[in-house]
Amino acid sequence: MTQRIIGIMGALPEEITGVIELLKDKEEYRIGKRTYYKGTINDQQVVVVYSRIGKVAASATVSTLILKFNITELIFTGVAGGISNHLKIGDIVIGSELVQHDMDAYPLFPTFEIPLIGKSHFKSANDLIQQANESIQHIFDQNYLHHVISSDDLEQFHIHQPSLHIGLIASGDQFFRDQTQKDHLLELLPETLCVEMEGAAVAQVCYEFGIPFVIIRTISDEADQHSTIDFTRFTEKISNIYSIEIIKHIIK
Ligand code: SAH
Repeated sequence: MTQRIIGIMGALPEEITGVIELLKDKEEYRIGKRTYYKGTINDQQVVVVYSRIGKVAASATVSTLILKFNITELIFTGVAGGISNHLKIGDIVIGSELVQHDMDAYPLFPTFEIPLIGKSHFKSANDLIQQANESIQHIFDQNYLHHVISSDDLEQFHIHQPSLHIGLIASGDQFFRDQTQKDHLLELLPETLCVEMEGAAVAQVCYEFGIPFVIIRTISDEADQHSTIDFTRFTEKISNIYSIEIIKHIIK
């Protein structure tokens, strides 16, 4: 049987340095201007890395995880801008489907379709969605967050009873920062829950190599005129804690 090796990826140090601190028997590898950390979490082999921002950086990183580190599955944990009105800062989205909102080779191919693959939407693996779901329910249960994040910080972001959403994530090389961008996206992809800049690229690479994956995103901002400020404060204070708790409870 192939040994199970889980790749754990984020885009920013603020999404992943906490997870690196969970590693036992840590080894570091420097490849292509990124540092890959190999070790174990709860006795499970993992390789942890942050890619930096955007689809190209993310694709290069996940390819390295697959080809050099032989990962057998991938978990992405990071932050995103909320698009659906139902989402609040501090909520979590599991991307059951991922689409690249900036892919448009129309009229040669339908808008959003990845040319020559014949697909626009990539699906996270059902069993990983289920594991993520259980882990996040646990974190959102019975005030658990209050044990790991100070009341002041939770209050600052109005995080009271955060909820879990499962659905479509749209990715592209754009930071969403105003209502016009949001409205335009919602017109084209009305089911979008949140936006970010890596998930669908990671999903495409995993699909092409046959690696099961799940993309998990915490809402750091509402992808509107306040997003730069909210994003910066959230990533400074909260996002590492969410990543640590999600990963600790997923990997059993
Ligand atoms: N100004 C920031 C850049 C942020 S890019 C800086 O200097 O560091 C935002 C990162 O968080 C990306 O990795 C993306 O995946 C995610 N993200 C969070 N909110 C987002 C939003 N509103 N639009 C797009 N991506 C967002």
